[in-house]
Amino acid sequence: MTDRHAILVVDDEEAIRDSCRQVLTKTGYECHTAVDGIEGLHLCRQIEPDVLLLDLMMPGMDGLEVLSQVRKTHPHLVCVVITGYATIESAVDAMKAGAFDFLPKPFTPDELRLIVNRAIEQHDLLKETAALREEKERMKQYFITIVAHELRSPLLLVKQYMDLILGKKMGKIDDTAEEMLGGAHSTLTGLLDIIADWLKLARTNSGDIAGSLESIDIMPVLEKVVQDLQPFADDRGVTLRLERLNERCRISAHAESLEVVFKNLVSNAIKYNRPSGSVIVDGLCAEGTLRINVRDTGIGIPKDEIPFIFEDFFRVKSGKTAEIPGTGLGLSIVQKIVESHHGSVEVDSTEGEGTAFSVFLPTLGADEGKAGPAKGQEAAERKPV
Ligand code: ADP
Repeated sequence: MTDRHAILVVDDEEAIRDSCRQVLTKTGYECHTAVDGIEGLHLCRQIEPDVLLLDLMMPGMDGLEVLSQVRKTHPHLVCVVITGYATIESAVDAMKAGAFDFLPKPFTPDELRLIVNRAIEQHDLLKETAALREEKERMKQYFITIVAHELRSPLLLVKQYMDLILGKKMGKIDDTAEEMLGGAHSTLTGLLDIIADWLKLARTNSGDIAGSLESIDIMPVLEKVVQDLQPFADDRGVTLRLERLNERCRISAHAESLEVVFKNLVSNAIKYNRPSGSVIVDGLCAEGTLRINVRDTGIGIPKDEIPFIFEDFFRVKSGKTAEIPGTGLGLSIVQKIVESHHGSVEVDSTEGEGTAFSVFLPTLGADEGKAGPAKGQEAAERKPV
């Protein structure tokens, strides 16, 4: 094992292989050579090089084919294609296929050194970025564990004791003690809500969602959300109605995550509503896009606050919202989940009249296997306000 950077040169011309080996070894690199694509792929697996110098025009397996195979198996391998002037177009193709740069033949030792040094820098950068990403994920998981076990669990236990005392299960308590404990209980409930929302946000891993998408019908998800939140709406004297879509359409989604999305939107529509107001959930499926609206007749959102409502912990501060409990994390969770589904969220609101949130999701094509065409992509690219 050596600490030196390893370069693999794949070229059917012996003269090129020899001169590359001479120059690169002198420069301090560990240099390996292969006479064709097959041997090149074999050596890639065996020596795990940092940089691949790859001739495009080779008999048998050509450079583009080798490139496409190593891109799948060695994502950190930086590839420089060697090409003749006449084949500059294929060099461009190779760059499109993921090559880092190209080196036209004939080249001088200085040109070779320069390009290989740059490729090595790129390799180190990619490796460092991957390591930092891993470290960030590790820290996040560690933090999640701390919050979930060291913070949430003991607080839940305290709340359970309080529930027992306030429920008079342990005997009578005097009025002052009951009032004080009641205040402490609601503060604790607020804190636990923040922790629960924060954990939801931290655990909303776009990679995990993308990896667990399946073909689903949105209606059962919406029906469950409306059914679960009906008692909350009744409590507030708000009418809650779900309308059927114009047609059945299937989307590629993680049903539980979408349930979280619509639970957040519908519960906001109820809690920021006025007495005897209404909430309507409806939608439209057309041209490769499913649009679900959650419309309310509530207090609305001031125009100048709208750009911030998807930010973590943001809450509109006004006399009307002061008494309404919340964590300011619900809409961040909504946006993160919807974006992991390649969708987007829009909001339209008028103060004193109401708010409409619309979620756009790409639908599945008729063959049920592929995501919908252009319009679905448009949804993904539509920027949330
Ligand atoms: P919260 O837990 O505070 O409800 P959210 O992230 O869900 O947090 O929402 C952020 C802020 O956006 C809320 O505090 C509220 O001020 C505003 N908001 C969200 N939905 C509505 C709505 N339907 N009507 C009026 N204001 C809303």
